[in-house]
Amino acid sequence: MRQFVLKVHELCNLACDHCYVYEHADQTWRERPPTMSAAVVERTAARIAEHAVRRRLPSVGVVLHGGEPLLLGRVRLRELLTVLRSVVGTVTALDLRMQTNGIRLDEPMAELLLEFGVRAGVSLDGGRAANDLHRRYRNGASSHERTLRGLALLRSPRFRAAYAGILCTIDVRNEPIAVYEALLAQEPPRIDLLLPHATWDEPPPFTAVGGTPYADWLLRIYRRWLSDGRPVPIRLFDALHATAGGRDSGVESVGADRGDLAVVETDGSWEQPDSMKTAFHGAAATGLTVFTASADDLIALPAMRRRQSGLAGLSATCRACPLVARCGGGLYAHRFRSGSGFDNPSVYCADLKGLITAMDSDPPPGPSELPRPVFDELASGGGDATAVGHLTAAQEAITRSLLVAAADQLPGAAWSLLGEIDGQNPAAVRRVLAHPFVRAWAVRLLGGHDRPDRLADLVAAAAVIAGIDAEVPVTPRDGRVHLPTLGTLTVPPGVTGVLIRGDGTARWPGGSIRLTPQQARPAVGEVRPEPEEIRWTPTASVTVGEVTVRLEDADPYRDCHGWPPTGTLTRGERRAWAEALRSAWPSVLRDAPEQASGLAGGLTTITPLAADPVTLRSATSRQAYGALGIALAPDPAALAVMLVHEFQHTKLGAILDLVDLVDPDTDVLVTVGWRPDPRPAELVLQGIYAHLPVAGMWRRRAGRGEAGAEKHYDMYRHWTVEAIGHLSGSGALTAAGRHFLDRLAATIEEWPG
Ligand code: SF4
Repeated sequence: MRQFVLKVHELCNLACDHCYVYEHADQTWRERPPTMSAAVVERTAARIAEHAVRRRLPSVGVVLHGGEPLLLGRVRLRELLTVLRSVVGTVTALDLRMQTNGIRLDEPMAELLLEFGVRAGVSLDGGRAANDLHRRYRNGASSHERTLRGLALLRSPRFRAAYAGILCTIDVRNEPIAVYEALLAQEPPRIDLLLPHATWDEPPPFTAVGGTPYADWLLRIYRRWLSDGRPVPIRLFDALHATAGGRDSGVESVGADRGDLAVVETDGSWEQPDSMKTAFHGAAATGLTVFTASADDLIALPAMRRRQSGLAGLSATCRACPLVARCGGGLYAHRFRSGSGFDNPSVYCADLKGLITAMDSDPPPGPSELPRPVFDELASGGGDATAVGHLTAAQEAITRSLLVAAADQLPGAAWSLLGEIDGQNPAAVRRVLAHPFVRAWAVRLLGGHDRPDRLADLVAAAAVIAGIDAEVPVTPRDGRVHLPTLGTLTVPPGVTGVLIRGDGTARWPGGSIRLTPQQARPAVGEVRPEPEEIRWTPTASVTVGEVTVRLEDADPYRDCHGWPPTGTLTRGERRAWAEALRSAWPSVLRDAPEQASGLAGGLTTITPLAADPVTLRSATSRQAYGALGIALAPDPAALAVMLVHEFQHTKLGAILDLVDLVDPDTDVLVTVGWRPDPRPAELVLQGIYAHLPVAGMWRRRAGRGEAGAEKHYDMYRHWTVEAIGHLSGSGALTAAGRHFLDRLAATIEEWPG
């Protein structure tokens, strides 16, 4: 058991007529206490903690449910959350959630959710008319406006971290695209589209023999969602995509996942999942309580074992069905029929078949943040500035998510100020968060390997860029303060704190300096000499044609490329870099024109690496999108190849952040031409993706008759074609990965062999 649903409040302030708790077969709610007592809460928390320890669970999920959990009120809720955090949260990672109608969600309540790290899912069936079909007060009045008020709070930057998503119960009378758009307008982190609970005894509303109204309704949304580039995860579709790739669905409603969810009622009864309430009165009962039985005792019950028996526990019809691994027989409760119990296909069988078959008839999907044409363009090995812009936007979202995940470790004042600047001047914050090494720091921080005070440097940089009236205290490291994308301040020995002002000045006890505005910064190679102990060194940048890259020689997190970076560049070294890049760029334009626009759009930073006396050295880091680590190459043609080669790694890393191209569970090793040892599948894909445009560069150079180019072209082409063949036959790729590799193969097959 990894998921525990706690019925903390038995009653609800709405009277939705499609609610399975009150309106379906099971009526046991009438016999239960209205709220969960402190004794039940404590015992339940102890049972969950005991189970987590015994089963060595790295995490458990707890969902506060009802009725309406917010009716518990702030005081009782705080007591309950305190117990859960202190008893369960101290033995395993505790993912706390709540399912609510949102009506009682006000600012103080939202603060409480934030304080305890609770994420709320809100029930909403669409726009006003759709929602009013079912979700009404006892007197018939609409609840829509009140729910939207709660959602507006969750959407706000202050409370966004407490927003889990929207749960929508399908009514096929509602226009599906209108429902989809109404849900999207609430900017949910995720949408759940729920089939209304039904059985063979009580079939779904509005069904007729031979019809598939639920599949038809869902497919309208599915197609629109795909053409929108999947702007938000929709759990049912994502689950079916996962099963298409042979992975777990992550949900009970489809796929072969074994149920890992238990319910605790207000009186402490252990129950089976809530959906069982639709089958018959008492269907969810187990006869056990948290006072008499552990979660292990619960798992041992025949009813729970049957739920957990996976495909083997399905009806003969389902076991013989070609879609069984995708559908899994649907939700357990939906199989019920008087007489044969749960030994039936789902009452939604025809709809599930129709939905899965139609979804499979579409080509394999690209990643959710990438519209299909963009994914296909990147999969062909290229990708212009627009395509790369999608990756850049997704990387910014990832960096923001990492910061939110680390928010409780970050200094509160700096965190609040960052939010304020983001509201006033979002471009300033975006520029700082796009600095490649912000993510590298955030990852180290979340891993417990770094300090949270780097946030102050980011906020100070954003404040200076925005020019806002604010002061940010920062802490020098080894006598230096690095402001991402701006430069580095060197302060006298012994200075332990510096105030950076938004007007571009820095002060410390006994001294101050004006940080040279970015636009008035000296050009490369023209840094003014200043007193050694007090110095502001703007980050150098080089502009070549339409590309401007920073030479990052000071960021304390730039060492993530796997090779040692240089120290601060001398004036001569900066000049050499500028000359080398200006010489190399024409070669990129000439030999890899399909890469130039993407490079110009996505490359922001070069980290100069210490040179190797024997070989050229270059590298990228998955945690530093937009940055290439390169040791200065005197030969412009070689530097051009390194730029193209390494930027391919950056692009593919960003694509892999969005979509599994390689089966996460594979341990297949693949033989390649460029290394003596067999390589993991993902690294082989990286090699193919980088070598393909390099082969293209040598092809063009060979076409101009350059000495030795033919030999290089043959070598890179052979490596790439051979590795594509080996990887293709390895079985290590997902459906999206096979599609990606096919498009790479199509690109290189057009070139002469
Ligand atoms: S419910 Fe229907 S579609 Fe699903 S596995 Fe069973 S027979 Fe196949």
